[in-house]
Amino acid sequence: MQADHFDQQKLLTLAAEDVALAQLAHRRRTLPENAAVTAAEDAQREFTADVVRAETVVRDLDREQKRLETDVDAVRARSDKDQQRLDSGAATPKEMTSLQQEMASLARRQGDLEDQVLELMERRETADATLATAQAGLDGAKADQARAEEGRDVALAEIAEGEQTHTAKRAEIAGTISALLLALYDRVATQTGSTGAAALHARRCEGCRIELYGTELAAARNADPHTVLRCENCNRILVRTAESGL
Ligand SMILES: [Zn+2]
Repeated sequence: MQADHFDQQKLLTLAAEDVALAQLAHRRRTLPENAAVTAAEDAQREFTADVVRAETVVRDLDREQKRLETDVDAVRARSDKDQQRLDSGAATPKEMTSLQQEMASLARRQGDLEDQVLELMERRETADATLATAQAGLDGAKADQARAEEGRDVALAEIAEGEQTHTAKRAEIAGTISALLLALYDRVATQTGSTGAAALHARRCEGCRIELYGTELAAARNADPHTVLRCENCNRILVRTAESGL
């Protein structure tokens, strides 16, 4: 294939734009900000579970406390009633003994219940602290996520802007290259998955980094400037420049 030597040079600029676009696509796929968002989401899920667990413990303790308070009230009421009976002076000596025994028993029960209330208050304090820690962790994870999302959006906007610029430049250059040469470039680019042309630099194909030697080198040396050379290794269009070392 023959193509204007200067058109061939333009393929290098085209290839540079394709490399830039590929780098931007790679950056979008591997954004560290995406990992930060995922990590914050994971942390949020864990802290949410912690909060739910801690809230359940607090609710259970509240229920237990209500039950204890009801028990304490019942014991107190019974004890007050016994005291009134004693104070009334209407009780027989036998009944008085029985009432005194019962009141002593109620006082022991009251003491037990008060111990339980104290223990419950301690457990409630621990549970409240656990809940507060989990809630603070959750708030922190939410803030982390918002920050990470903001960072990711900034990075994505940068990438989109870069893509717009490089796509426009690529179109501008492509518009000045002959249709046949451009079609060949695009076909090779599809094959290589990256670029369709590479510079021949110091006798080396810059696309695949293989050095030309023997007949391939001789052919490159002897070729007309307008002849389109191809790398035998990677199939790219080999563009000769002043630094080709021929
Ligand atoms: Zn090559």
